[in-house]
Amino acid sequence: LAQTLTFDGRARIGGQAVDALDGQRFDCHSPIDGRRLTEVARCGAADIDAAVAQARAAFEDGRWAHKAPAQRKKTLQRFADLVLAHADELAVTETLDMGKPVQYARSVDVNATANCIRWYAEAIDKVYDEIAPTPRNALALIQREPLGVVGVIVPWNYPMIMAAWKIAPALATGNSVVLKPSEKSPLTALRLADLALQAGVPEGVFQVVPGFGPEAGSPLALHMDVDAIAFTGSTRVGKQIHVMAGQSNLKRAWTELGGKSPNIVFADCPDLDTAVAASVGSLFFNQGESCNAPSRLFVEASIREAFLEKALALLPQYAPANPLLPGTELGALVDETQTQTVLRYIDSGLREGAKLLAGGERVLQSTGGCYVQPTIFDGVTSAMTIAREEIFGPVLSVLTFDDAREVVRQANQSDYGLQAAVWTRDLNKAHGVARALRAGTVHVNQYDSDDITVPFGGFRQSGIGRDKSLHALEKYTELKTTWIRI
Ligand code: NAD
Repeated sequence: LAQTLTFDGRARIGGQAVDALDGQRFDCHSPIDGRRLTEVARCGAADIDAAVAQARAAFEDGRWAHKAPAQRKKTLQRFADLVLAHADELAVTETLDMGKPVQYARSVDVNATANCIRWYAEAIDKVYDEIAPTPRNALALIQREPLGVVGVIVPWNYPMIMAAWKIAPALATGNSVVLKPSEKSPLTALRLADLALQAGVPEGVFQVVPGFGPEAGSPLALHMDVDAIAFTGSTRVGKQIHVMAGQSNLKRAWTELGGKSPNIVFADCPDLDTAVAASVGSLFFNQGESCNAPSRLFVEASIREAFLEKALALLPQYAPANPLLPGTELGALVDETQTQTVLRYIDSGLREGAKLLAGGERVLQSTGGCYVQPTIFDGVTSAMTIAREEIFGPVLSVLTFDDAREVVRQANQSDYGLQAAVWTRDLNKAHGVARALRAGTVHVNQYDSDDITVPFGGFRQSGIGRDKSLHALEKYTELKTTWIRI
């Protein structure tokens, strides 16, 4: 399939596949071996205007927004079915485009995308509006209305899932959507637009405009006719998104941003092998390119040696390899720029005095791909760059502690607050530490639980708002009160 797939890199606007209005394109390369996959429309402000105009027209004439929730449900269920029907194609495309192991693109990314779309489809005809407890001579209806046109901007690390977390609740609640995927991994988003159309989502309701951040993302965030912007990406750009939303039309803005999640393993963790496997596996999953990667590992001093010995023993299974091979655990980083960023962080760890226990090298360079060894630094302190900044690569920083209060203080010493974990058999300690950690999600004695039913998002500079769960439905609707004299 990887050899025979062809891609249509045109934008999807008003139900059509179209080139950028000025004809500009950019090359889309695979990080697996550097091969050029296709050319993609390089959308700019004029294309964003066209996409927003289509979305607005579709919203205003009610071709989607005025449909009964049960009808939108049926259409979105078909959309989810079509995602699954194209699972192999979507998984291979995702892998070619951004380098993740195809086994996970198939079992995680495709399934989570379909599941997310289906979950919001099935939720939407079970949401009731309210009647306020007013005096008898009046009736106050409190209803949820779609916002209108929702702009969505997503990163490259989970291209389909990040898109689905936003477009599924936005479409389910009756909005029109303009999605700008990352310029590093635009291909599966384009296919999602095709499948939505095929499922019966009317023309103009869902557009995809590939392009670069400043050229296509900014015009979307600044657009006067866009009612909301749902963004996932870096904290640096997220801050700009809020400024752009505020300085344009005060559109609603939500941001899911970076993380530097602390993972605290106490000596009394229930099972050291499990703790090691989960800590290492969650960090190296998706090549470490996960916003919630447990990248700051705090190990209690008395188990440090045993922990590290077991962690090192697991490393051979994370040897970087072609992600199209079925057994690969660690694939390619998304591109050359990200590879250089990760190597610079490894360099900074060495310069600032951390001890390199394993990895640290770029490998498989003869393939033309972007592969970095799984890397573990010991002797890291909270002041070091690799303990403070998001690396977004397969680099684990190990810090040692021997006091519970002190480790919580250090864990909370971060600009971010996305996720955290605590491993202990002591119930009081688990609850106490979980309470004290400043993070949107805290895991106890595990790291990998995730479900569409729970909110996802962070404290502090990890962003504003939550994706997933019924809470996300609130984001894509306005509350309207109608007073009726009776
Ligand atoms: P990024 O901020 O560079 O880009 C994200 C998106 O924003 C891309 O589509 C990009 O084209 C666009 N963009 C860039 N500059 C822009 C501008 N000036 N105006 C408008 N749009 C612009 O992030 P990235 O490198 O693609 O992704 C990695 C980041 O995403 C990491 O920080 C990671 O933690 C974060 N992330 C967060 C979550 C979460 O749910 N919290 C999930 C996944 C990734």
